[in-house]
Amino acid sequence: MTSAPENNPGSNNNGERQIGFIVIISGASGTGKGSVIEEMKSIRNDFVLSISTTTRKPRADGVIGEHYAYVSPDEFKELVSAGAFLEWAEVHGNYYGTRKDWVEEKLNGGWIVLLEIDVQGALQVMQRKIDFTSVFVTPSDRKVAHTRLRERGTESPEEIERRIRNSAWEYQQMNQFEYIVVNDSGKLREAAETLSAILTAECVKMPRIRIRP
Ligand code: 5GP
Repeated sequence: MTSAPENNPGSNNNGERQIGFIVIISGASGTGKGSVIEEMKSIRNDFVLSISTTTRKPRADGVIGEHYAYVSPDEFKELVSAGAFLEWAEVHGNYYGTRKDWVEEKLNGGWIVLLEIDVQGALQVMQRKIDFTSVFVTPSDRKVAHTRLRERGTESPEEIERRIRNSAWEYQQMNQFEYIVVNDSGKLREAAETLSAILTAECVKMPRIRIRP
């Protein structure tokens, strides 16, 4: 079992938060949710980012932010049949899922578990009776996300257009999230600080604190 993080904010003030909780980080493609999480690593270290399982092919070596276990479509189907996923979805033509066993181990270790997942997966997690909060990451102007997608050069032109088409529905789901973090160009640090402030507040929510007066 993973030991509890040392600087666990919920453990202060006799709070002794021992069970972690989930933070869903979602949003359309190109909104920079991965970069915000990466930036937050230099602010705090009491969270872990879930490693998703996917049928998508790995990108070229050295692409920052690849955080996946790669499997074949058949292997993925077997995992679905075995009930291994907390959530899974077909996203832009590939399958992605979050393993239940991994998440449970981290939660029991007292970690804040970040799920960087698409909006379909986020809505599935929201239906479950588990302790979570939800964050939607977006630039103030969604066209910025389209430009980022085109400029990052990790997808083919067809794939980029598909992701942009899919994003219309994703933005429509924004009001189902508890928090919105704006990630505008040149303001990554601000976005990471806002996300970190959300985590800090969530750590000291009444049900998560066990005060022994
Ligand atoms: P990419 O192929 O660009 O790495 O990811 C495509 C989309 O799939 C992103 O929106 C990403 O957040 C989402 N994604 C990554 N892992 C998971 C997962 O485990 N479950 C779901 N539902 N979506 C995921």
